[in-house]
Amino acid sequence: MKITDVVTFRVYGRYTGPNFPPGNRQAKALDLYPEFNTEGDTSVKEKPISAIYVEIQTDEGVSGLFGPIEEPNAFTINHTLKPFLIGRDPLATELLSDQMLRMDRHGHSGYFVTGVSSIDIALWDLKGKAWNQPVYRLLGGPTRPAVPAYASMLGFSTQPEDAAKLAAEHKDKGYTAQKWFFRYGPGDGTDGMTRNLAMAYAVREAVGPGYTLMFDAFWGWDLAYATEMVQQLEAIEPRWMEEPVPPERIGSFRRLRAASRVPIATGEHVYTRWQTKELLTAEAVDVLQNDPDWTGGISEQVKICALASAFEIPVIAHGHSLLPALHVAAAQSPSTVPYVEFLLRYQEVKQFFQTTVYRPENGMVTPPTLPGLGLVLDEGKIERRESL
Ligand SMILES: [Mg+2]
Repeated sequence: MKITDVVTFRVYGRYTGPNFPPGNRQAKALDLYPEFNTEGDTSVKEKPISAIYVEIQTDEGVSGLFGPIEEPNAFTINHTLKPFLIGRDPLATELLSDQMLRMDRHGHSGYFVTGVSSIDIALWDLKGKAWNQPVYRLLGGPTRPAVPAYASMLGFSTQPEDAAKLAAEHKDKGYTAQKWFFRYGPGDGTDGMTRNLAMAYAVREAVGPGYTLMFDAFWGWDLAYATEMVQQLEAIEPRWMEEPVPPERIGSFRRLRAASRVPIATGEHVYTRWQTKELLTAEAVDVLQNDPDWTGGISEQVKICALASAFEIPVIAHGHSLLPALHVAAAQSPSTVPYVEFLLRYQEVKQFFQTTVYRPENGMVTPPTLPGLGLVLDEGKIERRESL
């Protein structure tokens, strides 16, 4: 079998599902500057949406599909990876992964690796279709019939009363864990910190002691602010504090771990097993969150799981999309991958163009049994399609 073409395309449609983003947003690093510390436009009434996919085609008619991917990934694919892939054996995923990660002098992190990730995931979809098996079976699974999903509450109101009500509702829906997002950071002064803490304490009170609760700062803070926050959060026992500072600040992560009993998580902006190793050997994290969509693909995510398991650190993938992380989770020990993340608002939109929107039921998500990833586009929802 040989790769004959790699195509990227954008599909357009009209979103009809619930919870259209933008909703309430999280803190971000640029908020330090008042001109960037503004609310998004939440008055959107029209709901036109689009999404980019990549398809790998072969001379035997089998193809691999993955998306939505980001526009810079399509650029990397079309300008660098596609010419490299045409004529190659698509089933040799380990060879292609190793070679793609050696291709570009600036390509050890960031958008080059996210582009490689898109291709690697599409290759796994192709291999599953060629061998008529879901990806988790090719990876050695299933290790369990369904994987616990934690409810990731990005986009919902962070007003303490609203957040408390939603937290209680989602606990009642069967979710055994939830993550809430802080809106405020160093640019918002002591008032912002007070509001952050009011939200966190209200959510804890709503779900009760012992319930698994996490918080995310989307690398929007600095070490001093993060230290104050984790010390103030210690009493409500978060399962983790996520991305308090940018992930390359390994020394800051170490100091934060020493500053309180709150476990520290990062990884969604960490690329490949080598960057992950630096966090592990420095004892800088309690939970890793590499995302197969970004860290190098399914091939790399599996290696990161093996590496992390030897350090007794769980890998709870960031939930950019659901399916790649879900297939990996379903083929890993529950000790290594105890949860997948499910972004309640964003997954509805990201999966809109699929025939099936995969969601947790009673807090558990069952991996698709279709060959490959289980991602099938619904032509009925696609009004227009354009090549990139
Ligand atoms: Mg995050």
